[in-house]
Amino acid sequence: MLDAPLRSAPRGLELHCRGWEQEGALRCLLNNLDPDVAEDAGALVVYGGRGRAARSPEALADIVAALGRLGPEETLVVQSGKAVAVLPTHPDAPRVLISTAMVVPAWSDEDSFRRLEDAGLTMYGQMTAGGWFYIGTQGILGFTYETFRAVAEAHFGGTLAGKRVLTAGLGGMGGAQGFAVTRNGGRALVVEVDPLRAERRLKDGWVDLVAGYDDALAAHLDPGGPGTVALVGNAADVVPRLLAESVQFDVVTDQTAAHDPLRGYVPRGFTAEEAAGAEPDDARFRSAVFDSLAAHVRALLGYRDRGAVVFEYGNGLRAQAVAHGVEEADSISGFVSAYVRPILARGIGPFRWICLTGDAADLRETEDVVMDVVNTDSLRAWIELARERVPLQGLPARICWLGLGERDRVALALNELVRSGACGPLALGRDHMDPASVASPTRETEGMRDGSDAIADWPVLSALLNAAQGASWVAIGNGGGVGVGRSIHSGMVVVADGSELAERKIRRVFWTDPALGVARYADAGYPEALAEAERHGLVIPP
Ligand code: NAD
Repeated sequence: MLDAPLRSAPRGLELHCRGWEQEGALRCLLNNLDPDVAEDAGALVVYGGRGRAARSPEALADIVAALGRLGPEETLVVQSGKAVAVLPTHPDAPRVLISTAMVVPAWSDEDSFRRLEDAGLTMYGQMTAGGWFYIGTQGILGFTYETFRAVAEAHFGGTLAGKRVLTAGLGGMGGAQGFAVTRNGGRALVVEVDPLRAERRLKDGWVDLVAGYDDALAAHLDPGGPGTVALVGNAADVVPRLLAESVQFDVVTDQTAAHDPLRGYVPRGFTAEEAAGAEPDDARFRSAVFDSLAAHVRALLGYRDRGAVVFEYGNGLRAQAVAHGVEEADSISGFVSAYVRPILARGIGPFRWICLTGDAADLRETEDVVMDVVNTDSLRAWIELARERVPLQGLPARICWLGLGERDRVALALNELVRSGACGPLALGRDHMDPASVASPTRETEGMRDGSDAIADWPVLSALLNAAQGASWVAIGNGGGVGVGRSIHSGMVVVADGSELAERKIRRVFWTDPALGVARYADAGYPEALAEAERHGLVIPP
């Protein structure tokens, strides 16, 4: 049993719970809050603005204690970051069920949500923060790389060589942008208002130089200069200034946490610290945020007028700008509809796993198995790149993009590996941004072929299905990525401890979960999904 409040996951094979499923949930929850993983572990903020893993320190302690006692025939129920019940179930049921930030739709707006949050009734959980399966910057790295690769293919003949990218935000996800741009041959200038965040990315090797306006710009414009330069400044000042000074860019985007503007977007004239301490209801602060956001978006539109490729990077910036007087922001395209849709439409999404014992040697073993099972050049290239370039953050973890027919084979092979004793127990799962598991009309489901952008039955069905199939934990949430009221999403994890029970769960979950993704896109009429459905003999009623 754990008696002290922990700030990182336990390592090794000694159990602190009554079985590996519970232990896996405990370790993944605490891994989310490891100071090396979380953006602000002290405040329980994992990533994405204020995406938390537990509602309060007391609630965290209660969850940890409940997991420590949880039996193999019980299920812990977690309501928005707080343990609310331990109920009798059965071994094949999930050990934990999590629902985060769900609010009746008419109350699902930022101000109502904040009032409920201030009353201690809920919390914002982003996607894998509340779902206990965040793996640090790496989680978004492959995705960001694929996005910039698609940008290169769509506009620049397949490479960003000789191209310069302007963006903002070096947070948990935004921190991956420079790596993704440079691996595609380009160079990136990333505006970040918080010098501490910029320094953190420098220390972790995600940016090459941190400097103020003049030095950063000079280094970026020097063809022999560093690949990724962090410019410490406010995007609402810097982007309009660069435009006014006619500094040209080929691609312009943004990854400030604008989905939660009063908490995640620092207005002009404020330091990051001052903005964090400001009162969201203060009229002066509110107008500073929305004026800044509008100025920033007008500059993005200015860059588009000058011929740059401009897109919203999933942070809800357009909707905020439209709501505050910049109607034209609506015409900026979203990155998923513009670049990622063809991947999702094949039912492919971000599979990931965490080595629960913390042993980096386990990661190598598992990667070898994954490369053996899915023997493609692109997967091998990604894993080799990740091995070389991605620093470990918290428990060793890896992500790769897999679809139907791959995930179940990989997951079963990994469970076999654990059974053989060649590696310790693993947590296998995926991000919430999978084909069926998210409805987010300004991001993952923007511009769906059949207009089903806002239909949120799919993530709910996905969670129900994964619970029915006995995933070790299943999470559903509101607002991940784009802000409360703007998305519904779900995630799941199965602990592979080499047991027969794990094998049963894996066989069921890792077939039906991606199959629902194919069904979602087939239902929307995507030919790629219809072909996948036929190839795998999925029963899709007419
Ligand atoms: P985060 O909160 O960890 O980081 C946001 C960063 O933006 C912080 O470092 C903050 O200091 C900086 N910032 C805020 N206001 C600024 C300003 N005016 N000028 C310059 N910097 C400013 O958030 P994150 O996890 O990195 O996510 C960023 C956004 O990207 C979120 O809205 C997220 O939902 C969205 N997003 C990204 C992807 C992706 O594929 N990369 C996918 C989905 C969503």
